[in-house]
Amino acid sequence: EPGSRTVTGACFSRVVPQPLLNPTFVALSETALALLGLNADDVLRDPHGTEYLSGSRVIPGSEPAAHCYCGHQFGHFAGQLGDGAVCYLGEVDAGVEQSSDPLSTSTCGRWEIQVKGAGLTPYSRQSDGRKVLRSSIREFLCSEAMFALGIPTTRAGSLVTSDLYVQRDVFYSGNPRPERCSVVLRIAPTFIRFGSFEIFHPVDDFTGRHGPSVGRPDIRAQLLDYVIETFYPEIERRHSDRQERNASFFREVTVRTAKLVAMWQSVGFCHGVLNTDNMSILGLTIDYGPFGFMDRFDPEFVCNASDKKGRYSFEAQPYVCRWNLARLAESLGAELHSAKAGAILDEFMTIYQDFYLCNMRRKLGLLIKREPEDVELVADLLKTMHITGADFTNTFRLLSAVSCLVGEQNSTDSVVELIVEQCASLEELKHTARKAKQENCELEMILSMAETNPGMFNMVANQPEVAKQLEKISRLKELLMINEAGLKIKQRDNWQRWVKQYRQRLARECDETSDSAAVEKERVRSMNCTNPAVVLRNYIAQNAIEAAESGNFTEVQQLLKVLENPYSVSTDLEHPVYSAGSWSDQADGNS
Ligand code: AMP
Ligand code: MG
Ligand code: MG
Repeated sequence: EPGSRTVTGACFSRVVPQPLLNPTFVALSETALALLGLNADDVLRDPHGTEYLSGSRVIPGSEPAAHCYCGHQFGHFAGQLGDGAVCYLGEVDAGVEQSSDPLSTSTCGRWEIQVKGAGLTPYSRQSDGRKVLRSSIREFLCSEAMFALGIPTTRAGSLVTSDLYVQRDVFYSGNPRPERCSVVLRIAPTFIRFGSFEIFHPVDDFTGRHGPSVGRPDIRAQLLDYVIETFYPEIERRHSDRQERNASFFREVTVRTAKLVAMWQSVGFCHGVLNTDNMSILGLTIDYGPFGFMDRFDPEFVCNASDKKGRYSFEAQPYVCRWNLARLAESLGAELHSAKAGAILDEFMTIYQDFYLCNMRRKLGLLIKREPEDVELVADLLKTMHITGADFTNTFRLLSAVSCLVGEQNSTDSVVELIVEQCASLEELKHTARKAKQENCELEMILSMAETNPGMFNMVANQPEVAKQLEKISRLKELLMINEAGLKIKQRDNWQRWVKQYRQRLARECDETSDSAAVEKERVRSMNCTNPAVVLRNYIAQNAIEAAESGNFTEVQQLLKVLENPYSVSTDLEHPVYSAGSWSDQADGNS
């Protein structure tokens, strides 16, 4: 029964996906379809291919369903959410073992498949269960791009659009107009999420809401057993004691989540909507909405226009993930001792920082020894990127050129020049600083306080949050006083300082070995496999979307090909169009 209703005592509801009108392929992912044992050419040639892959025709044997889940949205328990626009088609046992995929061993080639945008379900609430072309292109491309980057993610097999239209409101579409209903075929070992367990959430103090299956420990036990037995069979095998098994499971989810967010931080990815219903129980990136890859590095980067307080800003992601894990622990109730959960949660930041530092060392080509000062080297690099407005992706990519020139000062200078060249212009830095100032009335308050009550001002100024704001003000003041040439000199100074530090660090790395030429060679190779030449920047996705909206799908297909090889050196040379554009082109692609 479509339409909004509360579903109690069940994890899934049977549904019937609604057909599209004239479904057409926009793009297919060969590697994702191969997981299902499908050949993309065969699929293209199949007269019913578009219908099967969009849920317009039910695949024989499929029993479509929508999943009931809850979630904490922006910090508050939201009650029942569920698959409002997604329809689960079932499981495919392709019998193909994908040895390169660390998760495949747990499912032995068994994959859940879903169609996203296939119409109304009992969980559609006020919306229509449809997805438009632009959000579908973003999900399709980013799923495949993340996979190619080596980041755990749900996959996207195909993207189908149609002659069925819906209209989105101004907030989501920019300008209201009829848009084509489109469907992405999603693939994952499972789409079960933290929110799947929150249907057992007791009455929430703040919102007064509760999960629709609260008071059903029998179903919770069944769901938990299913998840552990199916996706964490090692843990099931290792423990005979239920509590110990569950704690071990929670620890593994914690580790995987920490590992995932550490990977996001290493490529400058911001998810944008880290509500608990968008957290995979397998530690996959799931539910691509207003996500963004950072262009110029800014720790406070927020990619979701509705996130006014920056709850899901780039720098907040690790903390938010930990917070979400705490909500998962709560929803497991008696299945997990709270003291045990607390102890595991206390480890989260350490686990995260270890993964993060390990990623960052690899990005910097520090492969031989660890030094305690590496933490600072990374922090200084990010700070330098931030104040000079350097491009996150391109800067890391350029560093491999420094790393093979340890002994050659002149050549290093030319790399510094390349880095400085792509730093922000004075106009752009001023624009960003002014915007931050306008958006933050706290700043104004602090400033006026400095004039009227210096004593109070000094007290307040020591608080970390305020200190941060003051730093912004002084940066803006500085910018207002220098000219473009002065800025370039400053940027060059900053980069020369950091690169000098980096070269010294690299030299110490070589001290550890007799064959420094071999070390350098391996370093460059490793850095080029760790620092992507290309990521799905918003404006790039936007160009492909606009082409597709006017009927040209080749840009989406070509972009997919580029994103499938993000570390390829030829990408640097052949596709300058896919690296950073001018800042005015980088329209915010929040929609
Ligand atoms: P999200 O913010 O994308 O994670 O979605 C939050 C909730 O809104 C989930 O329950 C979704 O299933 C639901 N939802 C998102 N888009 C639609 C849509 N077009 N129609 C119905 N429900 C939707
Ligand atoms: Mg979601
Ligand atoms: Mg969504």
